[in-house]
Amino acid sequence: MSFVRGLKCRECGREYPVEPIYVCEFCFGPLEVVYDYDSIKKVMTIDKILSRPKSLWRYRELLPVDGEPVVGLNSGFTPLVKADNLAGVLGVKQLYIKDDTVVHPTLSFKDRVVSVALTKAREFGFDTVACASTGNLAHAVSAQGANAGFKRFIFIPATLEYSKIVASLVYEPNLIAVDGNYDDVNRLCSEIANKYKWAFVNINIRPFYAEGSKTHGHEIIEQLGWRAPDNVVVPCASGSLMTKIWKSFKEMKEIGVLKELNTRVFAAQATGCSPIVAAIKSNSDIIRPVKPDTIAKSLAIGNPADGYYATKVVKESGGYGEDVSDEEIIDAIKLLAKTEGIFAETAGGVTLAAAKKLIETGRIDRDKTTVICITGNGLKTQEALVGHTGQPYHIRPNLASFEECLKGIKKGGQ
Ligand SMILES: *Cc1c(COP(=O)(O)O)cnc(C)c1O
Repeated sequence: MSFVRGLKCRECGREYPVEPIYVCEFCFGPLEVVYDYDSIKKVMTIDKILSRPKSLWRYRELLPVDGEPVVGLNSGFTPLVKADNLAGVLGVKQLYIKDDTVVHPTLSFKDRVVSVALTKAREFGFDTVACASTGNLAHAVSAQGANAGFKRFIFIPATLEYSKIVASLVYEPNLIAVDGNYDDVNRLCSEIANKYKWAFVNINIRPFYAEGSKTHGHEIIEQLGWRAPDNVVVPCASGSLMTKIWKSFKEMKEIGVLKELNTRVFAAQATGCSPIVAAIKSNSDIIRPVKPDTIAKSLAIGNPADGYYATKVVKESGGYGEDVSDEEIIDAIKLLAKTEGIFAETAGGVTLAAAKKLIETGRIDRDKTTVICITGNGLKTQEALVGHTGQPYHIRPNLASFEECLKGIKKGGQ
């Protein structure tokens, strides 16, 4: 059974029944899922949540599905790592990494949104799923769609990282590489979605899909012992994840499992594609589209669908935003690996590098609790590090050669 009341326009408030639709017919505002929190409050207690399997479906009353989930049974409940080594380097007291680089079948937070979107697509009766992707969504829809037995049309910018293309192709979807950037792909997909009766997870299924992101936030609250952090730093592409983390915190307060909410929400983007952070820094809610040019391809959306709402979250929560160069992204990937043993993709480098700047500029208080959202695994974007790591020591297969090498290592080694 579902606690969904329906869909509601975020602009004019007009309500709609649960259907595969995403824009208001009257004002063209985006639609959002609304719930009956009073009823959820009665059944969704801390004990009830704790009694369930450790997957994203443990928060199922707050997800827009009616029946049993068909995919994602092993997605979610990723570690919240207390990052003391990194905290020492950054000079802060309480630092946590919400680590979505592991556990998920395709090693990024996109498995959360895809689990919910595909379950909903099945409930709506679709036999074909599709998406416009910056990489991780392609991977997740290819994999989870294969498992659930959907036909799959996956649209990507042709310049995507080779490892993400291979990681998608192995599941044998119809992979369409478009000559253009993500914004071109997305525009094309909106046209295709109008014509073909497919479940485009981030177009006509978007209101349901986006709800899956909330579980990243629900888990942070649970893993902090039913407390909200003082600060959370979130990478932004379309801005959806950030708005949904905020929604998750608010609804956990609404249903009473969280007592206090004073979190500041901070946006992280690459300087080569920072339309949301640019708006935040100029204290505006007008998003000026840009042409992306950054190694953080998973975040390279120049015209972000939820950008306006992301700026509102930052304003409402008293947060801020920061953007970082490609060089800072690489340094941060290496810093996280060296201190915490976590290998993040370029988006993770963006988030950590932005957090570091926010700490250095005093926007994030060193004495408070901060959670950094790390959303994808570095094995997927290894190209970005080519030429930026050390080299292995080469030796001949004998002890003498090794010991000669060791002399060199003792002088300057790790
Ligand atoms: C998609 C993605 C995001 C954020 O996407 P939104 O469109 O802002 O929800 C963050 N990190 C990674 C690794 C992603 O793939």
